[in-house]
Amino acid sequence: MTISFNTEQMLVGGKWRNAENGATIDVINPSTGKLLCKIARGSANDVNMAVKEAHKALKGDWGKFTALERGRVLTNIGRKLVEYEDELTVLESKDVGKPLKQARADAVAIARYMEFYGGAADKVMGHTIPYLDGYTVYTLREPHGVTGHIVPWNYPMQIIGRSVGAALAMGNTCVLKPAEDACLTALLFARIAEEAGLPKGALNVVTGLGNEAGAALSGHPDIQHISFTGSVAVGSMVQKAAADNIVPVTLELGGKSPQIVFDDADLDAAMPFLVGAGIQNAGQTCSASSRLLVQSGIYDELLKRLVDRYQSLEVGPAIDDLDVGPLISAKQKQLVEGYVMNGIQNGLTVAAQGKMVSAERGFYVRPTLFADVSPQHKLAREEIFGPIQVVIPFESEKEAIEIANGTEYGLVTGVWTRDGGRQMRMAKAIKAGQLFINNYGAGGGVELPFGGIGKSGFGREKGLEALYGFSVLKTVAVYHG
Ligand code: NAD
Repeated sequence: MTISFNTEQMLVGGKWRNAENGATIDVINPSTGKLLCKIARGSANDVNMAVKEAHKALKGDWGKFTALERGRVLTNIGRKLVEYEDELTVLESKDVGKPLKQARADAVAIARYMEFYGGAADKVMGHTIPYLDGYTVYTLREPHGVTGHIVPWNYPMQIIGRSVGAALAMGNTCVLKPAEDACLTALLFARIAEEAGLPKGALNVVTGLGNEAGAALSGHPDIQHISFTGSVAVGSMVQKAAADNIVPVTLELGGKSPQIVFDDADLDAAMPFLVGAGIQNAGQTCSASSRLLVQSGIYDELLKRLVDRYQSLEVGPAIDDLDVGPLISAKQKQLVEGYVMNGIQNGLTVAAQGKMVSAERGFYVRPTLFADVSPQHKLAREEIFGPIQVVIPFESEKEAIEIANGTEYGLVTGVWTRDGGRQMRMAKAIKAGQLFINNYGAGGGVELPFGGIGKSGFGREKGLEALYGFSVLKTVAVYHG
């Protein structure tokens, strides 16, 4: 399949147009460090226009569609996305530097989100509430109106799928601001959605910088909800800007997610997840498992296995589809290398590193495993967002819980143990939005509600739960005597 779109244009009210002031931003291929294309540098004026068009669409075709009709359109988009899976995969791989297999998983996921939310659109119901004699009381689930979606660069397709998909299913219209470092699949998604019959104005895409288009969207007085996925620092700014207009927000932020491996764990089963969840997307994953907590009885054996695996890891261009691709940008590479230097200068043990197999001049960092790390160390507390894992020894269940819960984040925790009682105790004691027992991530299914606590954010996306977040509950009380 082929479909054409101009990367320098944005979709506003069903029209593809350049930024109002004609400005553009260079897009760099992280695998080569070379210019890939340009995108439009949308400004506050472009955001204003997009919000206006989104309001028009609420009063137009999209606003008039029944839940069944909305579901059909989303399902059609899902089907079309399946047809364009190869294009989406290759484009994401070039734009984000994702090894092809990982980019393909995201292309599959965005289609799956549309199918899931297409099927769910007409299955969200209110309640009737037993009340005083003479009253009939019921609740309605209604759209917020215009929803803003600010998306990071690490998983554009997954995050657009889960937030825009759920928002459209509930009858909202959307203004999407993808990250300046990774806009291309957002634009292709919008083209495909158009082809699949999404009415004009239901989805508007404004590309641009965070402190320009992003800030204009989050502080816009005429949006009714904002879904932000990204860093804690920017999430806090978005929340403050939205607060001025009393606009509700969903914040999906960062993490420092641990996997806890007890002495009785099935190490063969655990091994692929222990390393895989740390290096996937070169560690640039909100739910990356960057801390491995290992009980003393198996510490030496497991460390040896981890070292072996790290030494076999290959790093290279996305197109070569190796274990690890480049980081998104020169800035991110510098940041991650700074953490590695900090660890080395602080006397941390570098247990193993992966190997570079590329002669390209992209933004590569060798995956690095630090052993015997104190839970208090900077590398064990801060989100690094690169292929770096720390191994932390522990003695008891109590100590493991304290360490696991001991950062300001609370996104994901993995627990590896065969002891059923311990599984139940850990499920209660762990402070995180998601807990995985004897797995990590459960394959990332679109059905599974996802979100954080603490500085990992609040609100839930994915699954049916997201449909409640992207709608407002209205209570209707009828007095009929
Ligand atoms: P970021 O916060 O720098 O940027 C995210 C988005 O916000 C981008 O679109 C950016 O343009 C925009 N932005 C930047 N400044 C803005 C401003 N002043 N006002 C409004 N918008 C602005 O994050 P990033 O570096 O793109 O992504 C990495 C972060 O995202 C990590 O912390 C990661 O953990 C987090 N993340 C979380 C989840 C989750 O589901 N919890 C998923 C993916 C990524």
